[in-house]
Amino acid sequence: MRRLRRTKIVATLGPASSSRSMIATLFESGADIFRINMSHTPHDKMREMVAAIRAVEKDNGRPIGILVDLQGPKLRVGAFTGGSAMLDKGASFSFDTDAKPGDANRVLLPHPEIFAGIQPGHALLLDDGKIRLTTTEVSRQKIVARVEVGGKLSDRKGVSLPDTVIPFSALTPKDRSDLDAALDAGIDWIGLSFIQRPDDIAEAKKITRGRAAVMAKIEKPQAVLRIDEIMDVTDAIMVARGDLGVEMPLEKVPGIQKQLTRAARRAGKPVVVATQMLESMISSPVPTRAEVSDVATAIFDGADAVMLSAESAAGQYPVEAVSTMNRIAEEVESEDGYRLIMEAQHATPESTGADAIAAAARQIADTVDLSAIICWTSSGSTGLRVARERPRVPIVAISPNVATGRKLSVAWGIHCVVADDAHDQDDMVERACRLAFKDGFAKAGRRVIIVAGLPLGTPGATNMIRIAFVGKDSASE
Ligand code: PEP
Repeated sequence: MRRLRRTKIVATLGPASSSRSMIATLFESGADIFRINMSHTPHDKMREMVAAIRAVEKDNGRPIGILVDLQGPKLRVGAFTGGSAMLDKGASFSFDTDAKPGDANRVLLPHPEIFAGIQPGHALLLDDGKIRLTTTEVSRQKIVARVEVGGKLSDRKGVSLPDTVIPFSALTPKDRSDLDAALDAGIDWIGLSFIQRPDDIAEAKKITRGRAAVMAKIEKPQAVLRIDEIMDVTDAIMVARGDLGVEMPLEKVPGIQKQLTRAARRAGKPVVVATQMLESMISSPVPTRAEVSDVATAIFDGADAVMLSAESAAGQYPVEAVSTMNRIAEEVESEDGYRLIMEAQHATPESTGADAIAAAARQIADTVDLSAIICWTSSGSTGLRVARERPRVPIVAISPNVATGRKLSVAWGIHCVVADDAHDQDDMVERACRLAFKDGFAKAGRRVIIVAGLPLGTPGATNMIRIAFVGKDSASE
């Protein structure tokens, strides 16, 4: 199956979409990679979903990625007498370590690390930012704050601390257990929530040890500030606009989305733009004009993927939501403006053999009017460096590793094929041409570019580029 667009679609699975038949329909409608959110999914359900995705993958003969998104350290207040309390604007309100039920003056904050990190003047946001306070006094047992925007605060509502670096790990005990279960199930990507610093990613990588790639969800201002260091260690990022819009003023989110997309494209690492992209489609079969424009903006920015959350996980129209994203991406990418923007924002090659070859492949494809760039890639790194060039022609990545094919399912423009490694250069050229023909990327008589690292199977050794004719014999098998 060949997609007619470069931007990938991530579809979150949930109660509306966990059956094998629904997953198959979502895949056929355009979903390239499925996301399982561990905030709402027990281990046995996650394993069932993984098995259903793998069955759909087998039926279609195409690698499909699975992203397991860990909940991360979600901070919450304790409970109140009667279930809630009214916090009035201008009043003083305290957070402490006392487990007794809260009232209009105080509540338990069961996270001792916060007391060590917070400073007077720092903001405290409650219930998705609906209630806002400013810290006035801090001790090891108590935080006193002034209510700036009041409201009713109920039991166990979330707490966000946009100004405070909290001295704890991005992996909670629940995350560690979810991560072990996900790695056991053989998933491809791990989403890390609420990361604050590059060390949070290094910590997860010590556990994954290459068994899954790591996607850092950027949803805290602390992570935005250190994005260049984070880009150095992560495999991909997600612009997690939901929590980003709680931790930062909403009007800052579009600019940050552009900043993060640019940083990821510069680094040649996939970037997924997420949350509320087609939100109204949770209960409506058609999106709003503004939502279509929002998806289009992410695509015009050159994002690798756009994501559906509740629209595909719990909404009434999961298939329509995927088809709508598919149509928007196809249309935007066919605009002249899209090509012009991709070319204008083209990342400068780094001084490596792989980048020199990737840049040359794009230039040759533009100059000589070729049909596709075909990369033999074992770890996926050659494929990603070619994708970083955002070439005009399709990229076909051939890998002997199914894990590579699945991982690349999130990357811009890459059509992955899993096939045995070639014996020698002639075999490599011949099979690349045959695959390009079979999957509809080149007709007989057209030319393609082949990029590889020789000897084959040496990750990161991209050193060969060749132009080849797709002959009539490529059509016969
Ligand atoms: C987000 O906050 O935008 C996000 C993608 O994370 P989650 O869905 O886990 O809240």
